[in-house]
Parts: sequence; structure tokens; C-alpha cells
Amino acid sequence: MKKSKKIISVMLGAATAVCLVPGGALSEEALLKGDMNGDNVLTQEDVSLFNDRLMNRAAFTDKQYALADINGDGKVNVYDLMRLKKNTYGRRDTLPEGTWLGYSSAGTKYYTFSGGKCTTTEEKTGKTASFDCSVKDGKLSLGTNTSDISWNTSENFVLKRSDGSTEKFCYYGKETINWSELYTGDWLAVNGSSKRSFNIRGVSGTVNGKHFTYKKNGSSLEFTLDDGSKLSATVTRIDSMHLSMKWSNGTAERFTLRNVTVKDGITYINGILIANKSYSLPSTYNPGAILPEAMSAFNTLKADGARNGLSYWITSGYRSYSYQNQLYQAYAARDGYAKADTYSARPGYSEHQTGLAMDINVAGDNFGLTPESKWLAANCWRYGFIIRYPQGKQDITGYKYEPWHVRYLGKELAKEVYDSGLTLEEFLCIDSKYKN
Ligand SMILES: [Zn+2]
Repeated sequence: MKKSKKIISVMLGAATAVCLVPGGALSEEALLKGDMNGDNVLTQEDVSLFNDRLMNRAAFTDKQYALADINGDGKVNVYDLMRLKKNTYGRRDTLPEGTWLGYSSAGTKYYTFSGGKCTTTEEKTGKTASFDCSVKDGKLSLGTNTSDISWNTSENFVLKRSDGSTEKFCYYGKETINWSELYTGDWLAVNGSSKRSFNIRGVSGTVNGKHFTYKKNGSSLEFTLDDGSKLSATVTRIDSMHLSMKWSNGTAERFTLRNVTVKDGITYINGILIANKSYSLPSTYNPGAILPEAMSAFNTLKADGARNGLSYWITSGYRSYSYQNQLYQAYAARDGYAKADTYSARPGYSEHQTGLAMDINVAGDNFGLTPESKWLAANCWRYGFIIRYPQGKQDITGYKYEPWHVRYLGKELAKEVYDSGLTLEEFLCIDSKYKN
């Protein structure tokens, strides 16, 4: 039963940090201090087993010993027994108050206990529920569910549900958590040439691999790293995908949301299907036509244009992978590959394959001189389109100015991109470059 203090403190370190880590990072053995029989509930039996081991009537197993420094002072002695008795007998009728983070295999939930009511919010979805809650003799009732409740400290308890599953609770604070004010997502923070990745899930996250939690504090956000260091920031929302973060140390960063998912070989950023020189579509992606929502938006644009004496038609809409291949090979045969790359997409890289892009009227420089071009540039966002390859942005979009090529994004997003004055690449902090 003799173990070095060093091992204990390492284990305690892990157990302490665990409260900050969402979702099942907690090992079962670190769940409940003093839980000698490993049933995730503190009972008379645990007190008795602990007492026997303290009195040398039996030996701690490694697992038991890891849970034996109950008051966290680096020693296992009679004070731990006193704390275990307090935890086992003294808190059986204690109802939690304030806001708690509940970690279980089902995901993280926020619980706010107040005056016999409990409101829960699922971290992932924001779904809320409310229950009556009460506690009596070590049983916590939440609505119709009753669980065993056992306390590690006044800021940390464990529920064991009737199906045997457990949930670990860590105290968050007196304030409730407003899910809609959280910043869940993967963000790229840019300040000049400096870039950092923030991966935020609910009330915690990582920045460049370092874990933090954050809270709203008045009009600012207060970030606390696991080493206890704090930094606050004033956050301003620019649009649905951008924040401006002004840190208390004087620096500022622009945060761009970049939730990147790849499904069936197709890249989506914040749900936006991307096709450019960096992100290609598989040959199997084949919507067959301009997608109905984009088509319908174009028809509205066309009708409104006609009312202004302007005439719009689609000269090129959906293009299949194989058709784009034919086009590109023909251009390359005529002008060479390097030249062809400046005005034609390689197969799989054309936005026309998405079913969300179209060339309006005439795909040629003369279109830029027409009143149709002028009105399109000024108004297409109202219908959910953007001019995808604006003037002077060839290095960013990978294409020279194409006043005739529009991309459908939906009204809300098209307005945000238009208002930003940025290309889609700049808006999402992505590039558009062939890798070879
Ligand atoms: Zn086009």
C-alpha cells in the first residue's frame, strides 16, 4: 500500500483537469473519489472498505489507491476518511444550485438548478428541457428520473442513473449559460500574417492545442486556460461567419468560422459547397441540372430585370464532369494548358458542376459593358447570387474577372458576402490554387 506521493499528485492533476474537458474524457476510475467498491455511488460500504484499508486490515488496490486522497492534500490518512464520511453522509440532502456542466457518454449538457427547478441545455444542439428537481437521502430526482448522487467536493458530483450510466457534474457558476451566445465551431483567427485555430465546443475549446474555458463577463468574454491564466476580449459579431475579437492585451483578431466537412468527396465549409482550384468535385457528383432553388432565384431575377427593361438568359448552367473535361482539353489543345488554366477550370474544379453556378447572357468581356452587367453586379445578391470572380481578384479566386459568372449562395449569405466586399475565398479564408 505504500505509494509515492508523486503518483498521487499526477493522478490528482488529471482528475482536476478532467472537469474542464467535455464529453467522456473522464476515466471511470477518476469518477468518484473514495468509491472503493467501484459502483459509482458513495455508500456505507465505501466508508467501511476505506476504514479497513486505512487501519491496515486490508490493502488498497491500485485503482482504490488512486481514489484515496479524497481531500486532495497529497496524503492518504484519517482526514480523507473524515472527508469521505462527510461526502457519503453529510451531503445526502444537498440540492445543487447554480449552473453545472454535466459530462456523460451522451454528450455535454448544461444544468441550471434554481429553487427546485432544473433547466437543461444540450451543448451540441441547444435543445432545452425543464424539470422539477429535488433531493432526498442521496437520491436526486429530475422530473420522473431518479439517480444516486455522490459528491467529490462542493463543486463536483456524480450521478448514477437507474440504467447504471453515470454523469459527472462540474460547477460552472451562478450565471446561466445562454446557448445562443456561445461560439461553438472551428475558427481561424487572423491578425496580419499571424493565424491561430480556435476550436470551440460550447463553453470550452482549444487554441493551438491549449485547452480553455470561457464565460461572458458583461460585454466581454473571459478566457481561462488550464494553467489558470486569463485573458479577456471584446467580441463583436460582424456577420454569421465572422467575429472581431479585441484582446485585453491590445491585439485584435478577425475570426472566420470554418467548419469544414467532406462528404462523398465534396468539401463543404460552413455548409457551403465549395468548388475552386483547391477544392474539386468527384466525377460522380452529378446533379444533372441547375439546382431548383438556384433556378427559381434566377427566374425571379430575370423577371425583375425585365421590369427594368433588361434581358437575362443563362448561356451556360450546369456542366457535367465529362463535359468540362471535353471543354478543358479542347482549350488546352488550342492555347496550351497554362493558358487554358487562366480561363477554364480543369474537370472536377468547375463551379458549373455544382449546379449552383451560371454564366449570364454572354461569357465574354463585352458583357461587362452592358447595362445588364451593371444591374446584375449591383442587384444579384438580392436574389441569392454573387459575382463569383470580381475584378482584380485573380490571385485570390484563381480566375480573371468574369462579370457574367454568378454563384448561388442563398439570399442571406449572398447579402453577407456582398456587404463584406470580399470574394468567397476571402470570406471563408480559403485559397484557390491547383496543387499541381
Ligand atoms: Zn462560368
